[in-house]
Amino acid sequence: MIPYGKQDITQEDIDSVVDVLKSEFITQGPAIPRFEKAISEYCGAEYAVAVNSATSALHVACLALGLGPGDWLWTSPNTFVASANCGLYCGAKVDFVDIDERTYNMSVDALVLKLKTAEQEGKLPKIVVPVHFAGQSCDMKAIKQLADKYGFKIIEDASHAIGGKYLDQPVGNCNYSDITVFSFHPVKIITTAEGGVAVTNDEVLAAIMQRLRTHGITRDAEYMESELEGPWYYQQIELGFNYRMTDMQAALGNSQMQRLDQYVASRHLIQDRYDSLLEDLPVITPWQNPDSYSALHLYPVQIEKNCGIARKQVFDELRNSGIGVNVHYIPVHTQPYYQKAGFRLDDFPVALAYYQQAISLPMFSKLKEEEQLEVVNALRKSLS
Ligand SMILES: *Cc1c(COP(=O)(O)O)cnc(C)c1O
Repeated sequence: MIPYGKQDITQEDIDSVVDVLKSEFITQGPAIPRFEKAISEYCGAEYAVAVNSATSALHVACLALGLGPGDWLWTSPNTFVASANCGLYCGAKVDFVDIDERTYNMSVDALVLKLKTAEQEGKLPKIVVPVHFAGQSCDMKAIKQLADKYGFKIIEDASHAIGGKYLDQPVGNCNYSDITVFSFHPVKIITTAEGGVAVTNDEVLAAIMQRLRTHGITRDAEYMESELEGPWYYQQIELGFNYRMTDMQAALGNSQMQRLDQYVASRHLIQDRYDSLLEDLPVITPWQNPDSYSALHLYPVQIEKNCGIARKQVFDELRNSGIGVNVHYIPVHTQPYYQKAGFRLDDFPVALAYYQQAISLPMFSKLKEEEQLEVVNALRKSLS
């Protein structure tokens, strides 16, 4: 089976993890601050806080921005459930903004309309979470202008987008957001097995997220509520979690970071090849916004509706020919959990229509040309 996504682990990666295993610290050692520095320097953000998943990063990011009961968090329906669940973890309410039919990212037009209504009803969001779907940045300039006008905070869910650029600047510099989150799950651009990071330019937000990942505990006298009692002393000043990344994971991340640009470049070659091989087939290939240099986490195509062949049939035939296609994403509001909360299937029609035709073709940095031809031939056969 050719999977839709897959990690690339080299001997250097293995050696760097083994080095940690043989060292004094297998967690909370020197690899973590080194990884955080590598990420923040790469992205051009001041601070990076490494945690055990992007889900945890989204959770502590929401808490750091003060999200709580009575507040609203808005995100895209075309995402993994974690982008929305983080709001619920904080006791807030979650709503969605439909997507743009070309980029599959949160539609700025839909956001403008929804903000106008929400303002009249007194239900403006506290946080908006734009998701850089497939690695392509959202229209952050426009979303930031709306944040300034309506007073909401922005967390970029850039789980797909490390190594990508927006307006020639790295995604994660937080020029248009308060916090940006990356995921290092094995199917993502680089991996730490499980892992995530939150980057920010705000010192206070960084300090809160650092505490929340480790039980709400600080060892920094500056943040304590009374005098330091001695060198052993720490204080729990919030209710936090154990969301820490291990040194083994950070060592893997440090080693993977060396190849980040290479990975994204090879994804671009794969994209170019798909684009030309698929030209004469009844599929809509992913449109690339010139404002963005995508990290190309995914290569989602839509089977043209009027071609007479159902998406499910194409999907089943590809799977049966050993092509591990997938679908990104089942719109979050259609999940039973969210349906029970009152969402209707047709609440976000663009996301739903996109989902019904979507198939993600294999896309990972080490996908070979022969494998790609195999994918395209199987797709061609299915569509003929
Ligand atoms: C993978 C992913 C997440 C969750 O990442 P984990 O590191 O697995 O917690 C969140 N949002 C999006 C868009 C993702 O693709």
